[in-house]
Amino acid sequence: LQKDIYDLETAGIDYFHLDVMDGLFVPNLTFGPPIIKALRPHTSLPFDAHLMVNNPFSLLHDLKEAGVDRITVHGEGQLHVFKVLETIRSLGMKAGLALNPGTGAEVILPLLSVLDHVLIMSVNPGFGGQLFIEAMHEKIIKVRSMIHDPIILQVDGGVTTYNAPRIIKHGAQSLVVGSALMKSQCYKSTIQTLKGL
Ligand code: ZN
Repeated sequence: LQKDIYDLETAGIDYFHLDVMDGLFVPNLTFGPPIIKALRPHTSLPFDAHLMVNNPFSLLHDLKEAGVDRITVHGEGQLHVFKVLETIRSLGMKAGLALNPGTGAEVILPLLSVLDHVLIMSVNPGFGGQLFIEAMHEKIIKVRSMIHDPIILQVDGGVTTYNAPRIIKHGAQSLVVGSALMKSQCYKSTIQTLKGL
């Protein structure tokens, strides 16, 4: 991981998006605050933690302590998502809401006052390497029309150098690129292509 972090940072990425999965909200299990804390000394780039977990509240303090700058949580199944977002901010981090492909855009409306970013999942969460769901283009356009500066629109899942122009045209400002970057021949040229868009 230390080598990957070094290679990606020198190739020009803007931040590290860390998918935290608990094996319950999604079938996969990844890592939590101790691993993130161990990564922190190896880069000064922002850490953007995407929590695919049943109980995000229980992780917030430890993630702050681990050096996370931005936290995105899912509202699906959460009774107190407003409170979770408020708490993220009160800990001095940026707060975001992630929308699964089957979740309507309108869920963001009551939360706008506690949001720094909205993350549109363009695949079903839980696994890397999935294909972008075409119907999400319409959702990107819809969410774009519902939010304004300084709230940022982020898209996560199946983003490639081929579909990125359309995703950006529809209003995405921040792209999470996993497989398309990690499996590319050259990190630097892939990042330059994406940034050029
Ligand atoms: Zn993610």
